[in-house]
Amino acid sequence: MSRIAYVNGQYELMGAASVHIEDRGYQFADGVYEVCEIRGAKIIDFTKHMTRLQRSLRELRIAMPMALAALQIVMQEVVRRNRVRSGIVYLQVSRGVSRRDHAFPTHPVAPSVVVTARGISPQKGSDTAARGIKVITHAENRWPRVDIKSVSLLPNVLAKQAAREQGASEAWYVDAQGFVTEGASSNAWIITKDDRVVTRSADSGILAGITRAVLIDVLAAMQLKLEERPFTPAEAAAAKEAFVTASSQIVMPVVAIDNQPIGDGRPGAIARRLREEFHRFAEAV
Ligand code: PMP
Repeated sequence: MSRIAYVNGQYELMGAASVHIEDRGYQFADGVYEVCEIRGAKIIDFTKHMTRLQRSLRELRIAMPMALAALQIVMQEVVRRNRVRSGIVYLQVSRGVSRRDHAFPTHPVAPSVVVTARGISPQKGSDTAARGIKVITHAENRWPRVDIKSVSLLPNVLAKQAAREQGASEAWYVDAQGFVTEGASSNAWIITKDDRVVTRSADSGILAGITRAVLIDVLAAMQLKLEERPFTPAEAAAAKEAFVTASSQIVMPVVAIDNQPIGDGRPGAIARRLREEFHRFAEAV
């Protein structure tokens, strides 16, 4: 089936869809994005994703391109036109098209909006979760404003490629103090031998993940202890369990870090349980 994208007011065949070559998203990565999970043909945690989108836009002084209700209709329409039941919907907003000049355009420019969606087999996700994933560590090489969900992802691209070349599927960034910040496209978590669930606080050096926020509600409901603090790769290697969270992966068990097995080298029981419980706490629209 042909895929359909929404580009600046039009639904177009993906192969024919295009953006202007002087779009600032293309030239400067001057834009932001969101990825939401689709499940049962519905968008998961739309409200939280849109709150974060609006914050990212505000931080970069890009205008919200349309009313939230309109954006919801567009995203749902892209999901519908692509007949996606399980998968992801991607939204990108850039500062718009203007003659190339680093500083913001001095005349009013409409932000560019692109929405795409694609199906991902739920079985594939479950199979990966049943095996668990490996992570490598990678020196933090990003700008300090990682709280903004910007499309400037070159450091993340390089870290992910390094992971792939080492037979792993995620890279955990390690800051100058030797602590894990987050994954190249996920938040990082460990579970200690006495069942405390540890993840870095969202106010320093990480993106405030939506999956992370919802999972904190799941932990409270399951009466699991949460510790928001940094941890080192050595503590991760000695942990009972580890996992990552992201909208496209929900809770994904981590079974090795830099080729050292975590726990018994298999997905942990708590991570598996958190993955199963997650959607009871998520919103679907
Ligand atoms: N950190 C980074 C760097 C990411 O790219 C992502 C995924 N977009 C996350 C964390 C997880 O965020 P979320 O749970 O909102 O998908």
